[in-house]
Amino acid sequence: MQSIRKNLTGPEALQILLDGNKRFVAGELEHPNHCEESRKGLVSGQEPFAVILACADARVPPVNIFDQGLGDLFIVRVAGNIINDQILGSIEYAVSHLHAPLVMVMGHASCGAVSAVAQGVKLHGHIASLTPPIDAALKKVKGLAGCWMDNATKELALCTAKKIAESEPIMADLVQEGKVTVVATYYNLDTGEVSVLS
Ligand SMILES: [Zn+2]
Repeated sequence: MQSIRKNLTGPEALQILLDGNKRFVAGELEHPNHCEESRKGLVSGQEPFAVILACADARVPPVNIFDQGLGDLFIVRVAGNIINDQILGSIEYAVSHLHAPLVMVMGHASCGAVSAVAQGVKLHGHIASLTPPIDAALKKVKGLAGCWMDNATKELALCTAKKIAESEPIMADLVQEGKVTVVATYYNLDTGEVSVLS
């Protein structure tokens, strides 16, 4: 099956993802754009309709969670779904050169990066470079009602989405012009459901 998705708005792209997630939750996967025709159609270039910044965790693969296929999603994955200049540069490339109208930051339940920082685990080597934004989110929501780590995961996704949406010079202009929508979401590992936080 080949579906061409051109000139979508951010909200339309988000709805396609949420519809795919409903199929994932219901076990009614369509596996769009997995065929040979889709693969060959992508040789000359890509035109993803969404950018997803997700955790590197093996349990949270966006193509599966949103029931999408080859060429549909421009995915950046890093433990804790944090950003740095290189990750931001990748996102900027996808929206400004590939014209993706949606950027989604997806946090998830049981995130090992968040729980390790929450528990004060001593992280060696380059792993420690992941911790500052996670630590900031944990501190910000400490003492609030509900699960501390879930609250921090959601806060981290919201904060990261805000940083992306406000980043100069590329993202902030595209967001203000209404050409790109940035959202934060939370993936529930148990139910399979993705909920929009912003
Ligand atoms: Zn994680």
